[in-house]
Amino acid sequence: MSKTTIIKAGIAVAFLAVAAVLLLRPAPNTEDEIAGYADPTASYWLCTSTTCAKGFELSMAELGAFLEANPDATPACPHCKQTASVRAAKCASCKEIIPKTARAAGSRGGSKDSGPALCPKCGKPSGAG
Ligand SMILES: [Zn+2]
Ligand SMILES: [Zn+2]
Repeated sequence: MSKTTIIKAGIAVAFLAVAAVLLLRPAPNTEDEIAGYADPTASYWLCTSTTCAKGFELSMAELGAFLEANPDATPACPHCKQTASVRAAKCASCKEIIPKTARAAGSRGGSKDSGPALCPKCGKPSGAG
């Protein structure tokens, strides 16, 4: 076996390892986001259509199956059927689906301990994280 063959075999093994890791991850790039939610069995989405703007919920099983078939897409809104949806959070107090940006805005301003984000619907701490 020549040295080149060994190197080629090594590269092939490395590629297989990377592929295996990618395949084993159910939803690449969304792990961190999922970890922040109170309910690990569901994902929450907000329709960004200005005429709809409704929230909807997908189980992790549904989301996983969707992302497997459409890795670069976002789930279609069940109300208006548009695919202009963004990841959202669910308020622990009023159970409304609220934008994640509410939380991001609340965490800005220097201090990490500026208190929990307040739900834009009910004004109580959203409890999402
Ligand atoms: Zn919609
Ligand atoms: Zn609320």
